Amino acid sequence: MTDDCIFCRIIDGDIPSRTVYEDEDVFAFLDVNPLATGHTLVIPKAHHERLDDLPEGLSSSLFDAVHALTPAIETAVNADATTIGINNGPAAGQEVPHVHVHIVPRFEGDGGGPIHAIEPDRPDPSDDELDATLVAIGEAIDR
Ligand code: AMP
Ligand code: ZN
Repeated sequence: MTDDCIFCRIIDGDIPSRTVYEDEDVFAFLDVNPLATGHTLVIPKAHHERLDDLPEGLSSSLFDAVHALTPAIETAVNADATTIGINNGPAAGQEVPHVHVHIVPRFEGDGGGPIHAIEPDRPDPSDDELDATLVAIGEAIDR
């Protein structure tokens, strides 16, 4: 818990929320400024800023909750699909520094784009560049 974190204060009950789900490790609530009806945020109860800050077990609990909640949310709002995402760091648009998974219901013809719409200026890598990227990621995994 950090006092200046709005999501910690929601978990603590200092700030009201429309609670969708809660267990020992995870909390889910309706986004107050939804992109679509049923837009839900799923967060770990412990304060961690980014996905990579989460301990392994907590990451599993978080994604287990996302897995369980997604079909329930789709059913509740008659959605045709969902977009599920994390703004993981300020450069990716993260405004609240407490890791949260967005579950955004989607509807046929809703006019929203796919996740691919986030990057208007895409790279066009050569085979060599793709290979170099693969090596760099492999080395980072092994580290
Ligand atoms: P992000 O840009 O990924 O950090 O998203 C933060 C999200 O938190 C936004 O979609 C906001 O609408 C949502 N949000 C901020 N404050 C609250 C709040 N008090 N209750 C519910 N959702 C909130
Ligand atoms: Zn927090």
